[in-house]
Amino acid sequence: MNIIVLVKQVPNNTEVKLDPKTGNLIREGVDTIVNPDDLQALETAFTLKETHGATITVLSMGPVQAIDALSEAIGMGADKAILLSDRAFAGADTWATSFTLGKAIQRVEKFDLILTGRQAIDGDTAQVGPQIAEYLDLPQVTYVFDIEKLDTGYVQVKRRLEDGYERIQCSLPAVLTIIGGRSKPRYPEISKLLSACTKRAPIEVWNAADIGVTTAEVGMNGSLTQVIKTFAPKFERQSEFLEGSAASVARDLVERFKRNKLI
Ligand SMILES: Cc1cc2nc3c(=O)[nH]c(=O)nc-3n(C[C@H](O)[C@H](O)[C@H](O)COP(=O)(O)OP(=O)(O)OC[C@H]3O[C@@H](n4cnc5c(N)ncnc54)[C@H](O)[C@@H]3O)c2cc1C
Repeated sequence: MNIIVLVKQVPNNTEVKLDPKTGNLIREGVDTIVNPDDLQALETAFTLKETHGATITVLSMGPVQAIDALSEAIGMGADKAILLSDRAFAGADTWATSFTLGKAIQRVEKFDLILTGRQAIDGDTAQVGPQIAEYLDLPQVTYVFDIEKLDTGYVQVKRRLEDGYERIQCSLPAVLTIIGGRSKPRYPEISKLLSACTKRAPIEVWNAADIGVTTAEVGMNGSLTQVIKTFAPKFERQSEFLEGSAASVARDLVERFKRNKLI
């Protein structure tokens, strides 16, 4: 069994700030982490490797520093990793991201399962997994909580709904977007982490030519959407002190509530 896990390196969410002048994310000096749902996707893949035997390939698109995220995945137990990195990929919207990842997946020799996180904590769209499934014309199940059965040609999963679970069987190869939660993602092993940092680390870097795409198809050029403006909402507070006896302040308050249709 060959499993591809998609992993995105994201800014540590609690530290994300917007530049008030440009509206761009301030990425300099911001700590990065592996997207939390992707850790769940990795843990799901490792559990399948232990129970069924599997080769796990981790794939990411991002700047060179995303190698850190891939090294972490190798440290956790992935067999190999591929980073898609090229200036031409910069500024990609979700479609251009999915297209680029989809093209790279077509270059990976053989796969049975593609696992993605449900959602990235920075972009937050949850579009990439489903778009890859559409691009590769594969069946997909989203919000996967648990893989209950894996057999020749099919997988049975438990999918989380707002008020319960859904059990779904789906033919392979397939794309599953994972929320996980059955088991905590494992910590990387020091020895594997160290091996991921050597020159012989099983991490390849592919550029646009390696996946056979033109610069017009990827990054900002290949994006179907355009961000016009990014801004943080402004919160303003106004305060007023009411004076007088308790009874007159209470009457005043009730009047104000009525005027503003609050009661
Ligand atoms: C016009 C435009 C310009 C943009 N420019 C930039 C930019 O310059 N720099 C920038 O960082 N972002 C940019 N973005 C945001 C970028 O499009 C999204 O971060 C990206 O497409 C993924 O979408 P998402 O974060 O919502 O992922 P989701 O769809 O929420 O992610 C779901 C899952 O897909 C997988 N996944 C998502 N992205 C990747 C990835 N890159 N590699 C591997 N797996 C992945 C992960 O498993 C993840 O859990 C831009 C967006 C737009 C619309």
